Amino acid sequence: MNGPGPKIDFKRNRDRMVRDQIEARGVSDPEVLRAMRKVPRHLFVEEALIPQAYEDHPLPLGHGQTISQPYVVAWMTELLEVSRGLRVLEIGTGSGYQAAVLAELGAYVFTVERVRPLYEAARRRLEGLRYLKVRFKLDDGTLGWPDEAPFDRIVVTAGGPRIPEPLLAQLADPGRMVIPVGASRRSQELHVVRKENGRILARKLGDVMFVDLVGAHGW
Ligand code: SAH
Repeated sequence: MNGPGPKIDFKRNRDRMVRDQIEARGVSDPEVLRAMRKVPRHLFVEEALIPQAYEDHPLPLGHGQTISQPYVVAWMTELLEVSRGLRVLEIGTGSGYQAAVLAELGAYVFTVERVRPLYEAARRRLEGLRYLKVRFKLDDGTLGWPDEAPFDRIVVTAGGPRIPEPLLAQLADPGRMVIPVGASRRSQELHVVRKENGRILARKLGDVMFVDLVGAHGW
């Protein structure tokens, strides 16, 4: 039941979101598309914003933070090249939406958030949705999660001035990280960083806009 007011067909909204916002812009990995069709994004936003959950933009989460635009979540997930059984560290749990998408892909997800109410809400939300293998930590994610390192994949969903050194150190070899980096706040370039035979290779993709990565190795 959707409560009072018009009934919303969420599954149909999700299928449309994937077709018009994600596939139309070139994301084609069938597993990523499947995960985006499956995770109920409307349950990751505040109740008042549920009717807008499948629209083509980020939405406020409270505490000055946002849940990323659906396309950006799908694009970053495709770039990360996640497969079943990989260990994935996410910095910036926020709503838990990206973590749920990673869990749908069969990854072991470790996610770090610095804002306590968001961390608590995301934990409860993912538990309620039966994503029971996701591990949560309340901390400055620019320090990574040393006790659980190394990670096959690292995704950072907030933008800082540089790639945090602890994250590079905690990336497995071979390993892959997707992270927005920008010399100024509110405007970053998405970087794909690979570790291979002890070497670090970085590639810059398009411009993105994320909330601030705040911490010892952030702003
Ligand atoms: N991945 C999220 C989007 C989150 S927005 C989602 O799917 O909803 C970015 C989040 O990063 C915010 O919740 C913010 O509080 C968090 N953040 C910022 N700096 C951080 C840090 N150093 N460590 C952990 N989380 C951080």
